[in-house]
Amino acid sequence: MQARNFSILTYGCQMNKYDSEQIAGILSKQSYSKTDDLSEADLILLNTCTVREKADHKVLSKLGRLRELKEKNPNLIIGVCGCIPQVQGEAFLDRSRVVDFVFGTQNIHQLSEMISEVKKGKRVARIEKEPSEALDFSGDALLRESGYQAWVSIMTGCDNFCTYCIVPYTRGRERSREPDEIINEIKILAGKGYVEVTLLGQNVNSYGSDLSSPVHFPDLLERINEISGIERIRFVTSHPKDLSDGLIEVMKDAKKVCEYLHLPLQSGADKVLGRMNRGYTRELYLEKVEKLKSAVPGISLTTDVIVGFPGESEEDFNETEKVMREVGFHFSFIFKYSPRPGTSAMSFTDTVAEAAIAERFNRLDALQKEMTLRHNEALVGKSVEVLVEGKSKTNPEMLMGRTRTNKIIIFPGSENSKGALLKVEITQAGLYSLYGRALTTKESNHAG
Ligand code: SF4
Repeated sequence: MQARNFSILTYGCQMNKYDSEQIAGILSKQSYSKTDDLSEADLILLNTCTVREKADHKVLSKLGRLRELKEKNPNLIIGVCGCIPQVQGEAFLDRSRVVDFVFGTQNIHQLSEMISEVKKGKRVARIEKEPSEALDFSGDALLRESGYQAWVSIMTGCDNFCTYCIVPYTRGRERSREPDEIINEIKILAGKGYVEVTLLGQNVNSYGSDLSSPVHFPDLLERINEISGIERIRFVTSHPKDLSDGLIEVMKDAKKVCEYLHLPLQSGADKVLGRMNRGYTRELYLEKVEKLKSAVPGISLTTDVIVGFPGESEEDFNETEKVMREVGFHFSFIFKYSPRPGTSAMSFTDTVAEAAIAERFNRLDALQKEMTLRHNEALVGKSVEVLVEGKSKTNPEMLMGRTRTNKIIIFPGSENSKGALLKVEITQAGLYSLYGRALTTKESNHAG
């Protein structure tokens, strides 16, 4: 069979990255090989996100640039998948003539069929609105990016309907995988040398409640903690309202569960949280943070915050700033609110002026930078465990790895250490990464 190459450009969240690994798995079974060089690709897929307006713009401008490649190679197939087609439907085909096919988050399993139709000269749209039973979350179908860190989908969809979010409409309601299936997948990964797993779901804390024999997320974590070979367990995303005392207990006791949690705050003002339909108050959020900090010393907490949600007054914003200071997040993803079509917040008319949104964004951004740097500086002189990911992208002569608290560490060393857990002494702190020197080598780690 003729050799063919594919490239996938992935935008947005971990769920999209996971879908891209699934798509890559399907294509590799069709004798396609992966390439990062778009000019060598016979098939280019853009796996899109609608969470921010910018993501939409990014995709359209990328398609504009791909036009040139298509002019040089008329056989080049270009597809767009993920959340943008899921929301905009087949109308997306009209937005760019270079696009040969579009498909939604529930149509991944039909990829080969769609490619065949495109090869017959058709422009194809497959957008299934209802969650598809045919989707394979088993992990068997994935072509994973890394040989030692794996995303493992434990559930899909969301039941929460935050008023600014499109996910429940693009991914459907919550559906959990059977725990035994997840455990088997992770055992197989461990057997192949994977040391870190990140459990994925829109709201992992409510995992298992929809199963015929309901299971709680902390029980699943305890079972994964027993799997030999797996050294680190992470999970995203946690919803504050569903973060149970049981989960905090497991984070304290299960040694492989990392001292890291991403806990989206979104706003520190009860009025705004109510309008966002988040289901918790500022007080409840802070109470959970206190419990986490006392159960898991040194935990690194990160968050998402939306500034300028409709109706957010200066006082409301001040509340958010106060909560951020009080928690002392290690990192925050701060978003300027922009209405997304299809969400209920789209109809809110009490919008905040753009200038005020920009000013609030800058204030929070400066605060977060100050806090991040302070946390990072406190690590100088300490020795930390780092999982080596490979060459640093910013300093290619150095290695890059992550601590259990999800900090990026850059240090000199050999690429043979890829996938190893090394002890590294931190010598210098920057805002986005820290620098250090390895105290152990892959060999010395394995010798003991
Ligand atoms: S919890 Fe809210 S923000 Fe998160 S995916 Fe569900 S609806 Fe969206």
